[in-house]
Amino acid sequence: MANQNNNNQKNNNNNFFNNNPLLAFAIFSIIIIMIFKSFVGEGESLGTMLNTNNIAQTKQVKYSEIKKEIEEGAVQSVKLTPSSIEAISEQNGRKIRYIAQNVPTYDKDLIPLLEKKNITYEGVMGNGFFSELISMMLPILIFFGIWIFLAKKMSKGMGGGILGAGKADKLINSEKPDTKFDDVQGVEEAKDEVKEIVDFLKFPERYIELGAKIPKGLLLVGPPGTGKTLLAKAVAGEASVPFFSVSGSGFIEMFVGVGASRVRDLFAQAKKEAPSIIFIDEIDAIGKSRASGGQMGGNDEREQTLNQLLAEMDGFGTDTPVIVLAATNRPETLDAALLRAGRFDRQVLVDKPDYDGRLAILKVHSKGVKLASNVDLQIVAKQTAGLAGADLANIINEAALLAGRFNKKEIEQADLLEAIERSFVGLEKKNRKISDVEKRIVAYHESGHALMAELTKGATRVTKVSIIPRGLGALGYTLHLPDDEDRFLKQKHELMAEIDVLLGGRAAEEIFIGEISTGAGNDLDRATAILKDMVSVYGMSDVAGLMVLKRTENSFLGGGMASTDYSEKMAENIDNHIRTTLNERYAFVKKTLNEYHQAIENMAGVLLDVEVIEGNKVREIIDTYEKENNLKSRLAHGKKVSKKESEEDKTDDA
Ligand code: ADP
Ligand code: ZN
Repeated sequence: MANQNNNNQKNNNNNFFNNNPLLAFAIFSIIIIMIFKSFVGEGESLGTMLNTNNIAQTKQVKYSEIKKEIEEGAVQSVKLTPSSIEAISEQNGRKIRYIAQNVPTYDKDLIPLLEKKNITYEGVMGNGFFSELISMMLPILIFFGIWIFLAKKMSKGMGGGILGAGKADKLINSEKPDTKFDDVQGVEEAKDEVKEIVDFLKFPERYIELGAKIPKGLLLVGPPGTGKTLLAKAVAGEASVPFFSVSGSGFIEMFVGVGASRVRDLFAQAKKEAPSIIFIDEIDAIGKSRASGGQMGGNDEREQTLNQLLAEMDGFGTDTPVIVLAATNRPETLDAALLRAGRFDRQVLVDKPDYDGRLAILKVHSKGVKLASNVDLQIVAKQTAGLAGADLANIINEAALLAGRFNKKEIEQADLLEAIERSFVGLEKKNRKISDVEKRIVAYHESGHALMAELTKGATRVTKVSIIPRGLGALGYTLHLPDDEDRFLKQKHELMAEIDVLLGGRAAEEIFIGEISTGAGNDLDRATAILKDMVSVYGMSDVAGLMVLKRTENSFLGGGMASTDYSEKMAENIDNHIRTTLNERYAFVKKTLNEYHQAIENMAGVLLDVEVIEGNKVREIIDTYEKENNLKSRLAHGKKVSKKESEEDKTDDA
């Protein structure tokens, strides 16, 4: 969510109407009113001149028809204007008005005819010269109105548009931000990942001479308000290079072809001022997967814009120090072409901050405001789990507004707490603050996963456990790191271990919370799926033996028609097998958790306190517990692990 308002407009916009949108609107409105008035005016004047009070019907007819009516004597009275004729005809007490436009004024027979038939007639000059003039100018005015309107719209898209001559473009923001990495807090991993770009932008020659391949595009992925825009600006600020930004959604209202030309313009500007940064916010608006388009033919405009973007990215070599950063909170919807090598082939997760991160962000944003000495930002950080940086900035601002309203000189703790409450109401849907109850549930749930992961041979050890909603949609998560990298094969005991780990979450909820929440649904789904595959695909069960039991899906009839190639009896056996196996494993997992009851309590306690713990801390808690209780160590992967965070594997909880 780029804050584009305060971006200083570098391109001085000499487009009159672009600079004066209100004036343009006023002119356009006046034209519309004039058009409207002249129509209404005409109607009115005709109405009054023919005392239309009891006219039952008005018919637009051809002149020849009116003339025929006159000749047949069906007409009582006639009005003539230089270009039209109206005739009133009364039939069975109903007055009908005939109007003919574009009357041939050279018809010299008309008046004698009227005289002959003894029909009252009068000539009307309309509203005189002025209305003639308007009716002549109307088409021109309408044309002008539409032209100005289009020009305005177009010039938004293309630099300058029709009316303007300059390269001015409202939607491409260009600035030289003074944002620094210190302004972005709580997203340390993301910061680390973009740091090398700064160096490249600062000293491009070094890298170019070496022939190093620097990424052209980097995708910042994360929930709204986590600081993606801010981070992109900080890269530009640290490297002190120009920052060109556009919003993907801005392309979509454009006329066909305009989006593409703007992309061209954007890259041209950025290349001219290289080294520089291009930032595309909400790239999903243009980069939506073409396959998922839905409508036949797709959205032409979006496709053209996307193609242009791809062409531009392919068009400059790694020796052009322009880096394209794009932000999205829906990476899964992006077209695969965008993610290919040489384009946005690197993704950086900009995630919601943990406790320490939130505290740091609060500190950054309270620099500009006056805090009373009773303010404890740690408490504020504690109470805002689940909120993103933008929410925290809002809370500080809201607190300042509250304090101001009560004419206080400083912001007090009470104002901050009140502001948290308010943000809670306002943000419920977007970035939810997690309630204490939820936090407790998630803490035990994740501890259950973590314990099972550490005690089970064949499971992957824990790298990190968190109760902060992370990424997109998950409540908490446990990060696992496989022992060996690049594993393609899994042995039976490893699959069973995975099931135990998955069941650990629910078991912990049952034992420690005393009630089951919906949080384990995804885990159970996955555990069941693994077992099903073991039976029907991998031949790892006695029920089906070596038989592979495929389900064939009849997709060409619109999908949904699934048929099995095994008997009802077999299906029943499989269901029974899966159910009993899950029950057995669940009983075992519960037994284990009960044996390590205090260890789980300790782990959940730490999690509730600091929200995120490293794998080593998990192992330390288990190890301490075992030692204190003279238990033989069951740690399956040893105590310590060197920090290598490649090939991460997540257990998310929906
Ligand atoms: P996004 O682009 O991810 O939606 P923004 O970068 O637009 O989020 O964040 C909006 C504002 O919220 C920022 O300008 C900043 O004031 C504040 N903010 C967001 N994330 C952070 C952060 N990690 N550190 C400091 N401030 C932040
Ligand atoms: Zn879980």
